[in-house]
Amino acid sequence: MRTDMYIRQATASTYRQVLREIRQKEIYKLIVDTNPRHMYHFFRAILQLQMNDYRYHYMFTTFDIETFDLEDFKYNSVNITAFRLVDVGDSRVLETLDKMERFQPIGHAILNRSGIIQAEPALMYDSVYVFAQGLAALDRGHVLRPANLSCELEQPWDDGLSLYNYINSAGLHGLTGHIEFNEGKRSDFKLDLLKLKREELQKVGHWSPSTGINITDPTAFYETSATNITLVVMTREEKPYVMVKEDHNLTGNARYEGFCIDLLKWIASQVGFRYAIRLVPDHMYGVYDPETKEWNGIVKELMEKRADLAVASMTINYARESVIDFTKPFMNLGIGILFKVPTSQPTRLFSFMNPLAAEIWIYVLAAYLMVSFTLFVMARFSPYEWNNPHPCLADSDVVENQFSVSNSFWFITGTFLRQGSGLNPKATSTRIVGGIWWFFTLIIISSYTANLAAFLTVERMITPIENAADLAEQTEISYGTLEGGSTMTFFRDSKIGIYQKMWRFMDSKRPSVFVSSYEEGVTRVLDGNYAFLMESTMLDYAVQRDCNLTQIGGLLDSKGYGIATPKGSPWRDKISLAVLELQEKGIIQILYDKWWKNTGDVCNRDDKSKESKANALGVENIGGVFVVLLCGLALAILVAILEFCWNSKKNAQTDRQSLCSEMAEELRFAVRCHGSRQRPALKRSCTRCSPGTTYVPAALEMPHINGETGILPMMEMKKSSLSYDPDT
Ligand code: ASP
Repeated sequence: MRTDMYIRQATASTYRQVLREIRQKEIYKLIVDTNPRHMYHFFRAILQLQMNDYRYHYMFTTFDIETFDLEDFKYNSVNITAFRLVDVGDSRVLETLDKMERFQPIGHAILNRSGIIQAEPALMYDSVYVFAQGLAALDRGHVLRPANLSCELEQPWDDGLSLYNYINSAGLHGLTGHIEFNEGKRSDFKLDLLKLKREELQKVGHWSPSTGINITDPTAFYETSATNITLVVMTREEKPYVMVKEDHNLTGNARYEGFCIDLLKWIASQVGFRYAIRLVPDHMYGVYDPETKEWNGIVKELMEKRADLAVASMTINYARESVIDFTKPFMNLGIGILFKVPTSQPTRLFSFMNPLAAEIWIYVLAAYLMVSFTLFVMARFSPYEWNNPHPCLADSDVVENQFSVSNSFWFITGTFLRQGSGLNPKATSTRIVGGIWWFFTLIIISSYTANLAAFLTVERMITPIENAADLAEQTEISYGTLEGGSTMTFFRDSKIGIYQKMWRFMDSKRPSVFVSSYEEGVTRVLDGNYAFLMESTMLDYAVQRDCNLTQIGGLLDSKGYGIATPKGSPWRDKISLAVLELQEKGIIQILYDKWWKNTGDVCNRDDKSKESKANALGVENIGGVFVVLLCGLALAILVAILEFCWNSKKNAQTDRQSLCSEMAEELRFAVRCHGSRQRPALKRSCTRCSPGTTYVPAALEMPHINGETGILPMMEMKKSSLSYDPDT
């Protein structure tokens, strides 16, 4: 494994700058060699840059780490390691220190407040002690002869070498442990290894030049979790997140169940802590009251450090994030509108009209009148609709038109209702009218039938409101939110016009529209005339369990639930990591399914989505068929005009009169003779009664049509239906 090492030199004034650079580089292991006088500045820089969590490991070279105030680092899991020379656990050391304390002059404390001596005075004490012991040994060997010596001259003291040898051979126990010298250098000494563990500095090993490092408490370094720490977890009763079990024999955490309780179990085992669940006393999530300038609910509990964590359906929002910390969100949601399922439309006597929109019915009626009238007019103008009523009576001087006003309406009615009428158009123009009308009726009747089926199978619902804007527009249906939650502050602090208007309504409405629990909100919705603005997760839960409830419109915003901690808590990052891991492993999804879907009390509703599909057919759906009908009629009129002109031209030749006068005569008759079915034949040319002979007005000489033409069957039908009276 490659390890990079960065060396930075800093003074007290540049600590912050150097530490910031270290933080940016994501260096977490630091060896700090600094003057003890500047240690206070260094600690302050760590705190200011928030480099005081479990990821950081500081190794201090000072032997006096115990003499510094570590209060700010004890509770946030930061790793601090250092060595010490004086083993205060040693009874001999304690005895010496005790004596020292008794003899020390007032105002010159060698020991600090906690009874710990710094390394420097301890070494000083030991050196004096060793020197004294050396002198005593020398004195015992021979008479000590002190001499005046000069620092400038190189003349040695005679007993110097002996004293040096006595000191070197001394084997003593001083404040700094065993004292032994080897060629003037201290040998075989021991340094205690200290580590900040469970809120205090503890001896976790030792080091000596001969044996090297010896760690007596490996858990101090490899302990990934603080399993002995019990965190106070604040929560709030909320289905299905946190529920209190009904069994009164249960105690402690066993009393609670729900999504958040399961999630907490997972996180605690992942991160490694024990927990004690507490319910928030005021039963609120927490909002800021601008009047009292105070927070309430879970947020307040965390701010005042009465809890270490809050595991609940706690929404992350700006206001809360500025006073407490949140982990990464474990669930996403938005605000939705809960409403009672609209009552079924009462069955109406004329509900058969529903499949088509009112305007379509009007258009159909208009089309019916127009086509009937067009058929009538066209049949009068078209020469091919004037027939000899008695084909066998060749001398008959009248021709008859089957499409009188009533027959025209009857034909159109019969074909519209798919029953036929016994009448058959003969001229091309009237056949076009008939054909296009049949097509029209085919489409209208099929559409009607199909939509009628949908209407009969689907319950039509009346939904008075469809979204938040509809709610804001009216005051008949009241609406509200949970008291003391983020949904309430969403409306209170919103800058969007609709939501501001809704807030004004909610705030001023008496009796209050705010509820103290989601259950109360749901009950109010079920009682009717109340819409509840709630978070989609709880909304889904309620809708899935009660078929009388439904969601109206979409979500008004998008946010998430997070686990909350007091500001600067060392647990936040660890828990965030655990949340991400649980999310990626699908555990959170499994928990969701467990508490939302697989609880066995889910209501089975019919697929109400069909509801919206059964809408009355409007112009936009079947308007095209009217266009086709109009085009067909226009074509038929054109053909009728051509037929009329063609016939007039032929008659003009036969009668040897001008085309204009012939046409005028024909036109006059057609217009004048309204209501009449019969008119005198202008000329007869049919001399014998033979099947397949058709009579045309103005004794038009028709080409002899044999029985194979398309007209023949119709003629035959007509003939059979006509009673022949030779006297006519
Ligand atoms: N979960 C919400 C909150 O954290 C509750 C709500 O207001 O709907 O405040």
